[in-house]
Amino acid sequence: MMKQQRKSRQRQQILDAVQIRCDHPTADQIYLDVRAKDAKISRGTVYRNLGVLSEDGQITNVKVFAADRFDSRLDRHYHLVCTGCGKVFDAPLEYHMEYDAQIAAETGFRIDRHRMIFEGLCPECVKREEEKM
Ligand SMILES: [Zn+2]
Ligand SMILES: [Zn+2]
Repeated sequence: MMKQQRKSRQRQQILDAVQIRCDHPTADQIYLDVRAKDAKISRGTVYRNLGVLSEDGQITNVKVFAADRFDSRLDRHYHLVCTGCGKVFDAPLEYHMEYDAQIAAETGFRIDRHRMIFEGLCPECVKREEEKM
């Protein structure tokens, strides 16, 4: 019972730490924030709870430059990523230059480019899933 209470208190602390920040913190930044209040909490506990909280839909996992990929194409285009096998494909969609101009005008940023990634299952993975059923 005590152990269960500590578990849910830790999860709440981690959720609070994410909600109090508006800068899209990394797991490590959250770990440092939580550890400042609870010196005994481990990095593993924080990472695990962040995973649970995103699966629960209480926070969102924003994937930003997760890993470098390299492309032979030089023109600007968008990508599709398969969440099943991790393969990356080119998206058949034109680059929307007007988004850059619109965001620049609204934020004062000098925009170099934007990237768009579509997530889902590739046809091969869809087929594999269907065969399992
Ligand atoms: Zn796939
Ligand atoms: Zn590409």
